[in-house]
Amino acid sequence: MPGTNLTRAEAEARAAHLQVQSYEVRLDLTSDGPTFDSTTTVRFTSSDPSQPCWLDLIAPTVTSVVLNGETVDPSGVYDGARVALTGIGEQNEVTVTAQCAYMTTGEGLHRFVDPVDKQTYLYSQFEVPDARRVFAVFEQPDLKASFAFTVDAPHDWVVVSNTHAEVAQHDDGKTWSFAPTQPIPSYITAVCAGPYHVERSEYSGSHGTVPLAVYCRQSLVEHLDADEIFDITRRGFAFFEELFDYPYPFGAYDQLFVPEFNAGAMENAGCVTYRDEYLFRSRVTDAAYERRAETILHEMAHMWFGDLVTMRWWNDLWLNESFATWASVLAQSEATRWTEAWTTFASAEKLWALRQDQLPTTHPIAAEITDLEDVETNFDGITYAKGAAVLKQLVAWVGWDAFVAGLRRYFARHAFDNTTMADLFAELEAESGRDLSAWETEWLRTAGVNTLRPVVAVVDNAGLAQYTSVTIHQEAPDEHDTLRRHRVAVGLYDAGPNGLTRRDRIELDVTGERTEVPELAGQRVPDLLLVNDDDLTFTKIRFDATSLATLDKHVGDLHDSLPRSLAWTGLTDMLRDAELSASRFVTLVLAGVARESDLSVVQTLLAQGRVAVEMYSDPTHRDALRDRWAAGLGRRVRQADPGGDHQLALVRAWAAAASSEQDIAEMRGLLDGSHEMPGLVLDRDLRWQLLQRLVVKGHVGAAAIEAEAETDRTAAGERQAALARAALPTLTDKQAVWDAIMTPSALSNSTMEACLAGFMPAEQSDLLAAFVDPYFSSVLDVHEQRTFHTAERIITGLFPRVQVSAATVERARALAEGADTPKAVARMLREGAADVERALRAQKRDTAG
Ligand SMILES: [Zn+2]
Repeated sequence: MPGTNLTRAEAEARAAHLQVQSYEVRLDLTSDGPTFDSTTTVRFTSSDPSQPCWLDLIAPTVTSVVLNGETVDPSGVYDGARVALTGIGEQNEVTVTAQCAYMTTGEGLHRFVDPVDKQTYLYSQFEVPDARRVFAVFEQPDLKASFAFTVDAPHDWVVVSNTHAEVAQHDDGKTWSFAPTQPIPSYITAVCAGPYHVERSEYSGSHGTVPLAVYCRQSLVEHLDADEIFDITRRGFAFFEELFDYPYPFGAYDQLFVPEFNAGAMENAGCVTYRDEYLFRSRVTDAAYERRAETILHEMAHMWFGDLVTMRWWNDLWLNESFATWASVLAQSEATRWTEAWTTFASAEKLWALRQDQLPTTHPIAAEITDLEDVETNFDGITYAKGAAVLKQLVAWVGWDAFVAGLRRYFARHAFDNTTMADLFAELEAESGRDLSAWETEWLRTAGVNTLRPVVAVVDNAGLAQYTSVTIHQEAPDEHDTLRRHRVAVGLYDAGPNGLTRRDRIELDVTGERTEVPELAGQRVPDLLLVNDDDLTFTKIRFDATSLATLDKHVGDLHDSLPRSLAWTGLTDMLRDAELSASRFVTLVLAGVARESDLSVVQTLLAQGRVAVEMYSDPTHRDALRDRWAAGLGRRVRQADPGGDHQLALVRAWAAAASSEQDIAEMRGLLDGSHEMPGLVLDRDLRWQLLQRLVVKGHVGAAAIEAEAETDRTAAGERQAALARAALPTLTDKQAVWDAIMTPSALSNSTMEACLAGFMPAEQSDLLAAFVDPYFSSVLDVHEQRTFHTAERIITGLFPRVQVSAATVERARALAEGADTPKAVARMLREGAADVERALRAQKRDTAG
């Protein structure tokens, strides 16, 4: 991607002299491609016209540039990424006409043809710097302006953007003229167009009424549960308008479910886009509905935090994303049926954050973002999950009332403006009276995670075990040796008729290496001492010997879901740190999973169990462990409530692990209808999953995949078939998939995603060894030739992670250190190497028993 970068220094210099008033953007979307006409008129002022000035634009052809009435030869001013504007004055108007490209990578204006009915759908995705693929723009978040889109589209299409439109009909189609937006940054502008289906509703709250709409492809209408989506949306609006004390600022609220979307969703102002896998065509567990609701609320929180008040530059991306994550889980737990949403957070988000924060590439939450490449690689577990966990700690630190009061002042003071973290912290300090500078240094300016480890001294007092002292030891890794101030709770749990329940809870500040908990001296020793109970801080936790012995037998007996989730996360973390063997972890999961009531935790555990078997177990006894895991899951499937969520989650885990003759026969029977499981519905995606397993194990081949695909000619079916083909266990088949992935423009982003998901089952590591050399020799070309998201997907997706050996680690590191290796690529390689190294350590631990 040469020439498309933008540095922070350039952006600051441009913003120092520019003020942008308005954009008028006209797009003609009546052509089938490969390009569409784009005409942009920008009005802006400059306080110092002698400074460099340019518009960002990535277009195959720039047809004309007219600056302040003068026609300029595009070939002299356009370099493929920038239109140089020389000779500007104080007041300026520039019009750029270009042919822009429809994309199939999910960046810019994505074009998709539905295989069901051959209808065409378009949607835009602009974060971080891809508005410039659709119109000429000053592409940086602090040059807010008003945008007015005019879109020409075929008669039978609807066009959706950030505001409402006047529609004019004429012979060739319709022209949609959207009202100018309020001042917003370019990355949250949006244009979606196609024969979308729409359902409408509204939200009425204390500040008035917000029209609501949800959109999807025609072929997905039967799966659109609009009532549920509207219900969560209304609950979210009521919650956030009250919490932020500021009315929703963008008029109507449209939510579109769009095909082949790269991320989960995008917070375009008043025009949110979601991946349409969120409309469930097959049975899913409640965990999927919970995740979708979290996403809906996350995007909605951005309407205030991000869209109304916007970061000045991308180094405050973390605040944008952590805040939305924190606020969404909060809203979910307070305003929806998922009252235990923090349990899911303590499991899924925490493990994501812990992994990321222990990679060699980890970084402070408030990261230095010097250019666009830095920000593109930073949509990670630090920015979303660790940041949200640390915000939760900040709430505990300043207190709830001060936090909310500070937020309200922040929105009122900075509406429609740009800010930095300092602006928010100033309000929090004013409200709480606490100086946050030390907190900020410890938590936001340094990387790495602490470990809190209880060290207990016990006496026997007439047959009753009592603490004489409890000390919390705080540790930090050598590379990131900061010890922090933690506001924590410590819980004491005893076994009883209702399982393990909390007898007492003590809240305290942990600081430095040793913190005594004097309140615990003289207390009867509980069955479980849980540090960081209620999950107030971001830390790894360990257990004393008594507590670990309790969890070993009774982790599933913890009565409340949050401490249970914290215990599971602690145990998983011990597995990852080679403090608990894979074999023992598998035993724990098999014993506890069927009793775990939180489906998100169930699914996290099942996924971690699989990682333990395939990556962290001693290879010499891996086959035996595989058998034990699959057989254990099979038994739990049969014991599960027919038709319940556990049954479905367990069947999926079992199907991903099954390999015995009996299991294979059972799967074949389920597929051909000769075998049934009470309550289990073999719907499309479950059928595909069973079939894919048979493919991985070499029991069926291409013909079976085609036969299944024949019955499922949908976009989702095409993805499932691509995944299955990628899993075929022959060198010829693998090579064909490899070639397709490596050929630019051969695959759309979602077919690419499917191919990568199927290509590398751990069980095929011997076969896949042939692709290690090709991988390392093509990485740099991939980065050079592809757009960022595609390159990232290929480089991480094909990393030889199933070749768990020192050689893999060495090769990845050597390439990462190469002089020609761009920093984004080096980061991906180092992360891949670190995961393999971790697996090697865990395997050694498993050998030791
Ligand atoms: Zn977000």
